[in-house]
Amino acid sequence: MTDLSGRVALVTGGTRGIGLATARALAEAGATVVLTGRDEARAKEAAASVGASGLALDVTDAKAVSSLVRGVAKEHGKLDIVVANAGIMEDALLGMIKEELVDTTLSTNVAGTLHTVQAAARAMMRKKTGSIVVLASIVGEHGSAGQTVYAASKAAVANIARSAAKELGRSGIRVNAVAPGVIETDLTAGLSEDAKAENAGKTPLGRLGRPEEVANAIRFLVSDDASFITGQVLGIDGGLVL
Ligand code: NDP
Repeated sequence: MTDLSGRVALVTGGTRGIGLATARALAEAGATVVLTGRDEARAKEAAASVGASGLALDVTDAKAVSSLVRGVAKEHGKLDIVVANAGIMEDALLGMIKEELVDTTLSTNVAGTLHTVQAAARAMMRKKTGSIVVLASIVGEHGSAGQTVYAASKAAVANIARSAAKELGRSGIRVNAVAPGVIETDLTAGLSEDAKAENAGKTPLGRLGRPEEVANAIRFLVSDDASFITGQVLGIDGGLVL
């Protein structure tokens, strides 16, 4: 079992799904975990369920991200692990894409991830150590009909990881991305049973993924077991081919 005792971790978008499973996995490995969500009560309730603490944060607000990350690092004396997980997904065919969808998707998935990585890097730089994981997607690597905006946002997220890894390596900070396939969470709950079956059928493992399966990979990437891994985009998709 990976040992993260003594580590301080922050997971954005930790109120449910992959973020909550990640907060649980890190806490079970011994880390002190802070998770965030847009609503304070929801964040505190989710945090209590996994032995973490919960704070309100909208990742589209750069100043709020910066001040929360600084506050967590100050309170705990350091920040070792940051998982920039908060994200949204809304489908639209090319001809149906509205400006509002572009704005909300890019401000949450791209700018939100960027704000989080920037703030994490500032907090980790002083100790010259740290590990950051961002949430890309198989869709960002290969594209998907009806998901042009989401795919563009997740391709950007993967390249935030690749570029930040190049910039931060000399400061002892590793940055990686995970690129999940279809994982059963609220995000994919709107998929029809037919669409779920089709996606499951396209994976050699013949099923969709569980949030814990992404969390386990993230726990590995942030641990010392992954000490020579940086700038990677790790598929966690059951072998799904889009
Ligand atoms: P969920 O919809 O289950 O959870 C999303 C989380 O993000 C919630 O905790 C939500 O918190 C938070 N969130 C959303 N918008 C914001 C915001 N503006 N500021 C702060 N927090 C926010 O999603 P998943 O767990 O499925 O997905 C997690 C990540 O993994 C996302 O980045 C997603 O794109 C990515 N991913 C998911 C896949 C899947 O199949 N599920 C596949 C590939 C990638 P709250 O609503 O409480 O504020």
